[in-house]
Formats: sequence, structure tokens, C-alpha cells
Amino acid sequence: MQQIYFFNEGRRDMRALLGGKGANLAEMTHLGLPVPQGFTISTVACHDYEKNQNQLSDELRAEIAQALTRLEALTDKKFDSMQTPLLVSVRSGAAISMPGMMDTILNLGLNDQTVLGLAEQTHNERFAWDCYRRLLQMFGNVVYGMPEQTFESVLTSYKRRNGYHNDLDLTAGDLKAIAARFQDLYLESGHGTFPQSPQEQLELAVAAVFTSWQNPRAQVYRELHHIDNTIGTAVNVQAMVFGNSGADSGTGVAFTRDPVTGEKKIFGEFLQNAQGEDVVSGVRTPQGLPAMEKMAPQAYQQFLIAVAKLEKHYRDMQDVEFTLEHGKLYFLQTRNGKRTAKAAVKIAVDQVNEGLIERNAALLRIDPEQVSNLLHPEFAAATLAAHTPLTKGLPASPGAASGKIYFTASSAKAAHEAGEQVILVRQDTSPEDIEGMVVSEAIVTSRGGMTSHAAVVARGMGKCGVVGCENLVVDQEKQQVTINGKVFPAGSELSVDGASGQLYQGHLEATQATQDQNLQILLSWAQEAGQLDVYANADTPNDFVQALNFGAKGIGLTRTEHMFFKTDRLLKMRRLIIAGTALDRVEPLAELQELQTEDFYQLYRLAQGKTVTIRLLDPPLHEFLPHDAKEMARVAAALDMPVAALAKRVAVLHEANPMLGHRGCRLAVTYPDIYEMQVTAIIHAALRLKKEGVPVKPHIMLPLIDTLPELQWLKARLVAKINDLLAAAHTPLHYQIGIMIEMPRACLIADQLAQAADFFSFGTNDLTQLTFGYSRDDIGSFLPTYLDQGILKADPFKTLDVEGVGKLMKMAVDKGRYERRSLPIGVCGELGGDPASIRYFAEIGIDYVSVSPFRVPSAILASAQSALQRNYQASKVAVQAH
Ligand code: PEP
Ligand code: MG
Repeated sequence: MQQIYFFNEGRRDMRALLGGKGANLAEMTHLGLPVPQGFTISTVACHDYEKNQNQLSDELRAEIAQALTRLEALTDKKFDSMQTPLLVSVRSGAAISMPGMMDTILNLGLNDQTVLGLAEQTHNERFAWDCYRRLLQMFGNVVYGMPEQTFESVLTSYKRRNGYHNDLDLTAGDLKAIAARFQDLYLESGHGTFPQSPQEQLELAVAAVFTSWQNPRAQVYRELHHIDNTIGTAVNVQAMVFGNSGADSGTGVAFTRDPVTGEKKIFGEFLQNAQGEDVVSGVRTPQGLPAMEKMAPQAYQQFLIAVAKLEKHYRDMQDVEFTLEHGKLYFLQTRNGKRTAKAAVKIAVDQVNEGLIERNAALLRIDPEQVSNLLHPEFAAATLAAHTPLTKGLPASPGAASGKIYFTASSAKAAHEAGEQVILVRQDTSPEDIEGMVVSEAIVTSRGGMTSHAAVVARGMGKCGVVGCENLVVDQEKQQVTINGKVFPAGSELSVDGASGQLYQGHLEATQATQDQNLQILLSWAQEAGQLDVYANADTPNDFVQALNFGAKGIGLTRTEHMFFKTDRLLKMRRLIIAGTALDRVEPLAELQELQTEDFYQLYRLAQGKTVTIRLLDPPLHEFLPHDAKEMARVAAALDMPVAALAKRVAVLHEANPMLGHRGCRLAVTYPDIYEMQVTAIIHAALRLKKEGVPVKPHIMLPLIDTLPELQWLKARLVAKINDLLAAAHTPLHYQIGIMIEMPRACLIADQLAQAADFFSFGTNDLTQLTFGYSRDDIGSFLPTYLDQGILKADPFKTLDVEGVGKLMKMAVDKGRYERRSLPIGVCGELGGDPASIRYFAEIGIDYVSVSPFRVPSAILASAQSALQRNYQASKVAVQAH
């Protein structure tokens, strides 16, 4: 079976086989762009390698040898030749891009002989020895796992001894000596001599790239981005072109649109006389594209035409890598460019307006989780004006963060685990730092450009990021950074403004994100395409306004017990709970009714006829009772009662399992006057608004319903109360009484419950808690182990457990709708805002989700995507049936 494909044999739709890089090199070759010759060893070969106990099979070795002969013919160069030495790059490339996570080797094919040939042929001894020392460095690191630092410290001490400032100061003689020292390092580390046979070098390199698929940083990256572990990587072997051939050469990276703002203008970075790794690793801070235009104006024009062609062809913003060798342009890679959330939305909307893509394609392209990034905090202009920045770097990724600085991934992790907000400060980052980056609020580097590792990864993670902050002197050894002469040891507090690239001393207060016009446009398209309506979980007018601005259709859940967390109200609530008799409850209830009427009035007034679903009290009692002696004394004084009496009452109310205790509707069955007070407040507020001419739609929701008699018992009382109120006011009013489905039993008898409930709303928090038997409040003690051991794939409170909880939900939907076809059904637990769960909710026929205000936009988008994907699946089935 064929395991190797030359670039002219592949196409872009062969990603699974050739990896993204290989498929795109093939596509560029077909488009007629200048791509150095080469071939791709497929992902199938990677699977075979893993199955074969990490050995290359004899068939593959034979096929590699044949491919090399063909490559020699195509390039008119030869491996091991002194006159025309063929050098190749060996790069990984999985079907899903994992920038910098796996390994690359450049200049492969050089040895002690061909380096002399290359020097003679190029008339550039320095260049040849620079290539050789790079090969020795990368090969040692990738193939034998020799630490990069081992090589770097040789380079650094060589430069220091000679008073050099950067790599370009090294002479041919220096590089020759360095190469010899590097070869000694091979011997000293027990790896024997550096293999002189190019064929052997290649086989070892291919095996090392396959092995790098399983390296820890690649595994962490895959876990973070939900990439399937089993897809494997391809390996691309390509004839080298040299950006480090002299002053008329160089290398760069470019985006066809600005990856930070999305603006339609080419954005790139270029380094004269350098190889690609120098740009992406951030070791040298690059110049902009004008430097390339100045150096090679003709090639630059050709470059502009080619990248425009690429964007049009791929119908998406492209991120290209290119090299100029003696003024001749080559493309080494193209891929859809990573971008900030803001840029992603702007580019999608612009490309629809330019006629490049359709609306549906724009909607499907944006990751709903990324949309949440758009709602990032910012520092208010006034706050910034009141503080003097310490220094400024490149604004690589937006957001605003304050935290304590740390200089290594491990110390950042430890501080994070100790509950600190962390900022990772580094000279530059490499994939080893990924675990530190994951836990950091912001990432700051002293070197590197906008395409450096730190910048790309921060943007991908949606973290605030500032790079290339040249005034920072990071001292890893002393664990400190000096900024313009001022020393900040580990643990010092800094604030980072990802929008401007500025750093500030101390903690700055951040404000919420501002509205993004392009996001509004995209969300309006999503609302047209979406299947599920999106409501908000809002307890205060402020939350509600925020949610309405984000496009919520109304309120799907107001947790009325949350309206009592402020100190003055808490006391009134406590008085109610502590009250021993109905008589004792009269006074606190009257006080609370007044407050609640005003609360509901405000919400309904804002709603202007939109649905507002008020859930009657569901207070787990322990959250409202005093816990220790000190608090007990304070509350007793405030309630004007003896401490002993209060303690006695608290002891009576104590429950062994408050989450399974006297909560929700159970409280209302024992104390019906509490819910009667709440419906009175709702009806009074509604009648007041009706009188003012404001339309109102009260939806009343009962929590924790388990049985039909329980629901009937409560409903009869509430309806009687409401009828009395309406009769007294001589005003008719439409209202609904629905229930939360959050007990597994309720799912099992949903058909019965549908006889008496006007609507269902799944409380997936409690439903998950009770289905698994995992306490919502204590799962942290064992969840990490369950995830580590692979016993659970995900936290079931974060993403729906489809096969258990999901099955119960489906049963409840089917049973409910069997009883009443038009029964409205929603989800108001936290899972309602999880894009993956939303897909399942749409599938089982849920009508709406209700989510916290900041998750409204991503839920609207996720809902549109699930509808579009379902339509696409349905049309595929229809076509197949034909
Ligand atoms: C739920 O259980 O999912 C729910 C929304 O109610 P609460 O979180 O208030 O218990
Ligand atoms: Mg609940």
C-alpha cells in the first residue's frame, strides 16, 4: 500500500492521510505556486510505526529510499554529493494544526563532507557551517532528546567570550568550532557519533517525528483542544531552500488579514538572512514586511499576488510561511490562520459582505467558546489614565489581567493551585511552558514577535498576552525581572493590558467588555438560523440588561433565593427561616413580599412583554443559617433573640444532607405561606405593570418536583391564591405554572407531570448530582483523579453525560410530549451554556436553553451551528437515499 505521496499527487481534501501541512503543500503545488519539491509520508505510516513497536517497517524504508531517488531526479541534486548536495527539511504535520507541538529538523543531509561541498558551491563558508550547526542542534534534540539548553549554552558562552551580541556575529571559523563541539556533545551524552549517512539521518528523523506525536506537550495540547489522540501525524520531507544564504535572502510569516483585529490588510514579519525557525521561536525580533519589499521589490509583488490567490482559493484568512533564496520566492506552508475572537468574527462578517463565503459558512466557522473571549474584560480608559505604564510590548492577545508574576511553568502551576491569580513572565516561551500558560491569567515575554510561540498560543487559548517587551530583563536564575531598572521578584503583582501591550505595577480593576458590532451582526444571523431559543438566568435588573444586550429572548430562570444575599435582606430571610410558627412568619413574609413585588416589577418592566420565569424559593437551608458561635451571636443580636433560642432553632433545622433535604417545593408543602407570598408579589407586580400599559407574561416555576400529587397539591393552592388576587383586582391575566425537571424520578414520570405543568425546564445541576450521586459542592475532591484515570471523560457538571443524564432527559422529553405534543421544554442548568451539550439538546427536541448572561452569545451561536449541522446531515442522508 502506498505510504508516500509527492506534492503533485495530493490535494487539500486529503488532510486525514497527508496531514494539514502535506495536503496544503500539495494544493499550493497544484495552484502553480513556487513550492520546493518534496513528498509526504502519510499518517497511515505513523499508525503502522506505532503498531510496529515504534520501528519503521522494511516496506516503508524501501519506499523512502525510492522517494529519495525520485526527489534527487526532480531537484537535480544528490544526497551525499559534494557538487550538488541535496538537503531536506523534515517536518511533522497532523490533520489538525498543532503549532510547535511536534518536531522539525532542517538541513538534513549535511555531514562532515557535504558541508564542505555546500560551502564551495555557495561560495559561502559561513552559511554552510551555520546550516550544519543547526542540523546538529535540531537532530540531537529531536532524535536523541538532548536538551536544547546543552547546545544553546555552547552558543551563548561562545558569543559572550567573543563579545558578540547576536548569532549573526558568529564567523565561519566560530561556527566550524561550534559544530565540532556539538559533535563532542553527542559522544559525551552517550549517543555515539553523529550519523554521517543522509539515508540513516532521514530514517532516524522520520521515526523521531512519529514518536513526537506522543510527547507530553503534544498530548497536553490535544487534550486542551479536544483533538483525537489516534489520528497520528504525517511527515513532510522537502528540499531545503535557504533564507540564510546572505543579504538577498530571508524568511517570513504572513497573515492575509490582521490576526488580532481582523482588518483586511496583509500583516507579516520578516527576517533577513535567517531560517524559518528564527522567526517562530522568537529568538530574534523580526521586522515587518516593508523590510522585504525594500530588499526584493519584485518578489514582494509576486508574493502579494500569490497570497491574495491563496485566500480566495481557501475562502479564509491564510497564514503562510515563505522564504526568499537569493531573491527567489518560495512558499513553505499555508493554513487557515489562527486569530483572536475579535478578528475571527470580523473576518467572517467581512468575507460574507465581500461575497467570498455564505452566512452559514461564517456561522459554522466561529468556535462558540471563542465568542466568549470577545466578551473579555478591559481596563477602563479612566483607570489607565490614572496609572503610568511600566513598559510596553506587542499586544498579542486581548484581555486585561492582574496577578502575581512567576517565571516557570511549574511555579506558575503551584501558585495557581494555591489559589493565586498568575501571570507567566518569560524571555520567550516554548511548548514546554504550555501547562504554565494554561493556568495563567496573562502571558508576557521579553522577546518574540506577533507570530512567536507565546503570541500564537495565548491567542489560541484566549489569554491576555503581551510579547516582545524589550525593556524586560528576565533573570530565570534569580527568579526576577527588571523593568527599566526596577526589580520585580517572583510573586510581585503586575497588571497586563492585552489590548495596548502595556504593563502596570500592582492591581488594576478591569471592566467588562464593550459591545462588538460585528458580533451583533453575526449573532443576528445566528438567531435566524438557530433552532433553540436562548434565554438568560438573571436575578437582578443589571444581569437582565446585560443578557438582553447580548440577545437573550427573556429570562428562563430567576433564582429568587439569590435576591436575598445582600446583608439587609439576608436578615429578613433568616428571620423567616428561623420562625417556628406560621404566626412568627407573618411579619417577615410581609416585609419580603414588599421587597419581592418591587424586584419582580423591575424585571417585568425591563422585559416589556418578554417571558420572565420566576422560580419560587429553593434555598438549601444551610446556606442561610449561621454556622459558628460568633456568627450565631451576631445574628441573635440582629434578630433580637437570645443566642440559646437561636441555637436551639438552628439545631432543629440542621440536616445531614441539606442538598437532599428540606428544599424547594418541599419547603412550600410544609410552609405554603412562603410560595403564596411569592405568587402574590408576582401578581401584584404584573397587575401594576398592566395598569401602566406594559405587557407582562409571568411564568412561575416550581423547583424539585418529584411526584404528581406534590405538584397538584401545590398548584391547587397557588392557583386559588392567584384567582383570589385577580378577582379582587377585576383584571384577567395570562400566567403559566411550570416545573423544573431535576429529579431522576421526575424524568421517569414526566408523562404524569405533563398533565399538570404548563412547561418543563431541566435543572441539569441537580439532575446530574442525583443521577450520578455526586455532590455538586464536593466533586472537586475526586473529580481530578477520575479525569486523570480516564474513568470520566469530562466533568459531567460542565458537559452533559449523554449516555446517562442525557438518556433520562430524552425519556422525559418523549414522555412529556407524548402526553402533550406542544409542551414547551427548556434547560436552565449550567449545561445549557455548553456548546457540546446544546447539540444534544437540539437533537432531543428541547425548545430553549437559559444561560448566564455572558454565555448568551456563545449559546446563540452553538444553537445555530447545531441546526446547520443537522440540516447538512439530513441533506446528506437524502442524497444517499436517492
Ligand atoms: C439546576 O439544578 O440545574 C438548577 C438550575 O437549579 P439550581 O442550580 O438553583 O439548583
Ligand atoms: Mg436545582
